[in-house]
Amino acid sequence: MFPAQESPVQSLVDLGKHYWLPIYKPRELVLDHGKGARVWDTENRDYVDFGAGIAVNALGHQDPDLLAALTEQASKLWHSSNVFYTEPPLHLAQELVQASGFAERVFLCNSGAEANEAAIKLVRKWASAQGRPPEQRVIVTFRGSFHGRTLATVTATAQPKYQEGYEPLPGGFRYLDFNDVTALEGAFAAGDVAAVMLEPVQGEGGVLPAAPGFLQRVRELCDARGALLVLDEIQCGMGRTGTLFAHTHDGVTPDIVTLAKALGCGFPIGAMLAGPKVAQIMQFGAHGTTFGGNPLAAAVARVALRKLASAALLSHVQRQSATLREALASLGQELGVFSEVRGRGLMLGAVLADPYRGKAGEILDFAAAHGLLVLQAGPDVLRFVPPLNITDEELADGLARLRIALRAFTER
Ligand SMILES: *Cc1c(COP(=O)(O)O)cnc(C)c1O
Repeated sequence: MFPAQESPVQSLVDLGKHYWLPIYKPRELVLDHGKGARVWDTENRDYVDFGAGIAVNALGHQDPDLLAALTEQASKLWHSSNVFYTEPPLHLAQELVQASGFAERVFLCNSGAEANEAAIKLVRKWASAQGRPPEQRVIVTFRGSFHGRTLATVTATAQPKYQEGYEPLPGGFRYLDFNDVTALEGAFAAGDVAAVMLEPVQGEGGVLPAAPGFLQRVRELCDARGALLVLDEIQCGMGRTGTLFAHTHDGVTPDIVTLAKALGCGFPIGAMLAGPKVAQIMQFGAHGTTFGGNPLAAAVARVALRKLASAALLSHVQRQSATLREALASLGQELGVFSEVRGRGLMLGAVLADPYRGKAGEILDFAAAHGLLVLQAGPDVLRFVPPLNITDEELADGLARLRIALRAFTER
């Protein structure tokens, strides 16, 4: 029995504790509504949102154009499946191809894991079409990566903590240290590599960008050895780093790019973009999904893409990035909490300095108690992925709250 005087928040939290699979551990507050880069909980306390639903709400909460697109489509048609056409996913695919500058075709799905699952299957199908036997269809991925939670994508995710207990895992993956060119060259020696798959900026793994020149070297090796380059831009894409696609910074042309998180700005949708080498590899019946390309999701994503690709938004990201980066660096100096601030655009990681290593979770509790939602990327890194259209005032407010929270934490 729950105690009679239990607060309304506690009784909601208890529902989660009793009825959800116990795989999540949310902060003990119940969010109710949001506007811009602010959210309110059921007790009407407000928070500045530096986490944006894990880099998803790139246009903040209640963006009027997204809301209009969703409600307009909601009053017309919710779903048709892929045995009939509807307009939104047709236009969205064309617009993604045009915005990408490399892709010829698009597969629409519902999540990041599904986009990567499709990419993994496409690599295998491509290698198979080239007459390579299964043992020569190896996909190279990197330690610290995160590619999703399905069996294939969790296997691509080269982190044992996500894999333990789920064996037997699908075969044909090889793990290397991120940014290690020598290891990469060695990995191709056996002649069995079909693709290299990586995040241009590792997200979950600690907000770690590819080293300068690394992606170019990967591309060269892939070209020389007949392998595909697959970029997982699920977190770092859609304007997050200050360009629509993160790989623009690295000056490479990928063969496959996956998107999800900010693609629907909060409405679930994922996409796999396929370049000329692979656009025709999967033919009728080779893959599919019931919900992928759902008209509600696609109608929202079209507006999200238009807004996130705009020059004004992207230069806003670069400007706010500089402000946030400088503020984090000076907070780090003042309080001795950070050893490094890294990342790109509005995907920044503050690495905790020595006495505070491993304490990211505790800091997040202090932040929430002081009206700030922020994320961690492992136990040692605070992850800042606010809405890309965050205003000067919201950013300043969030930083002020962060400073108070960090002071309270260091004086605890
Ligand atoms: C979140 C994420 C995924 C998985 O996306 P889901 O929608 O949770 O399946 C894959 N790759 C990267 C880089 C991510 O950040």
